[in-house]
Amino acid sequence: KNFSKEDIMALVSDEDVEFIRLQFTDMFGCLKNVAITASQLEKALDNKCMFDGSSIEGFARIEESDMYLYPDLSTLEIFPWRPQQGKVARLICDVYRPNGEPFEGDPRYILKCAVKEAERMGYKFEVGPECEFFLFHTDENGMPTTLTHEKAGYFDLGPLDLGENARRDMVLTLEDMGFVVEASHHEVAPAQHEIDFKYDEALATADNIMTFKLAVKTIAKRHGLHATFMPKPKYGVNGSGMHINMSLSKDGKNIFDDPSDELGLSKEAYYFIGGIMKHMKGMTAITNPLVNSYKRLVPGYEAPVYIAWSATNRSPLIRIPAVRGEGTRIELRCPDPAANPYLALAVCLRAGLDGIANKVTPPASVDRNIFTMSKEEKKKLGIEAIPGTLIEAVYALEEDEFVQETLGRHVSEKYIEAKKAEWADYRAQVTDWEINQYLNQF
Ligand code: GLU
Ligand code: MG
Ligand code: MG
Repeated sequence: KNFSKEDIMALVSDEDVEFIRLQFTDMFGCLKNVAITASQLEKALDNKCMFDGSSIEGFARIEESDMYLYPDLSTLEIFPWRPQQGKVARLICDVYRPNGEPFEGDPRYILKCAVKEAERMGYKFEVGPECEFFLFHTDENGMPTTLTHEKAGYFDLGPLDLGENARRDMVLTLEDMGFVVEASHHEVAPAQHEIDFKYDEALATADNIMTFKLAVKTIAKRHGLHATFMPKPKYGVNGSGMHINMSLSKDGKNIFDDPSDELGLSKEAYYFIGGIMKHMKGMTAITNPLVNSYKRLVPGYEAPVYIAWSATNRSPLIRIPAVRGEGTRIELRCPDPAANPYLALAVCLRAGLDGIANKVTPPASVDRNIFTMSKEEKKKLGIEAIPGTLIEAVYALEEDEFVQETLGRHVSEKYIEAKKAEWADYRAQVTDWEINQYLNQF
């Protein structure tokens, strides 16, 4: 949508919008907002709304904490779940310094830089995510639990599926907000769901993922449920992934497609895969950001563990879905929905572009089940594992200058520092598992 400042002023008054939320995302992928009343809108649209960046984790030091929000006018949306008199709208914003320069710690800016680089190479980068999540019951104090009464599984129908009404409401709400919802279904684990919306350019998709999570959580709450995007909330069942489907086009034509190739893939597609595989270890701390993310990346739950690709097998890290022509795309299966979508898409795009620019040929595809291969076989085929814990992923990020450069110095340093602290705190915990295993025996 191409709104001018005047369009927005008119819309806000015609639609009886009372509050406007100026939204941005912090380094860890958490949505933040500053709410203003309609009387302050003009000031906000003139990029004069200020906030204190020092109170946002990873943003700025106290001495340089004044930050400005520059609303992206194309992102105006009215929240359908708020009162329809005195409505609430939002604008997604870019974060700027007082001197008028974009703030290098703003994840949206980091993705914009990566997208600009693709544009310089003549490419448009489009992404479609597959977001999975759980719907759990809340306790008598309204606090989330990991309890569910449902026993439904993959593609099951109601009445088994207690979350079905909630999911239906989510889909309708998302459509109200302009999403094109392509599919929604129950996932493999009890209480696990997936809603897929249509691909778009990377920046719009990252914005959409943030909006999606907010809408899903809000609607779940209305149904007395808690929606969680935590990657592995329950031991022994599938975790939640956020597969991302990526394609590049040039002059309106998908450039991953090449009918003359054996697999129907172009050189650029192979190089893009090569680039992702080359940087995968360094990117994992971004695509899988939590201690808990690595509890999902274990054998047996449809989540990837090894760095490999295939056009026929579903289990590897990178899969090429069967569709060709304009739908030709590369699916990366490791990211989880706790990832900051702006940073995750930025590192994926730049890794792929690095593959193209440096003609990084990927190893041969692996069309067999890697989980049943012996260590020797894997070694012979050069199949490596993705980092097994958050700290391994952080060390791998420290070794990948290219991924750090994509994030910029500010975010790389702050992110690595914060993730090391998260790991140190986790490492010092004594878990229930340890008590159960050891207390009696030793
Ligand atoms: N839930 C699985 C994961 O952790 C993915 C299942 C699927 O293929 O959709 O990635
Ligand atoms: Mg799925
Ligand atoms: Mg998938």
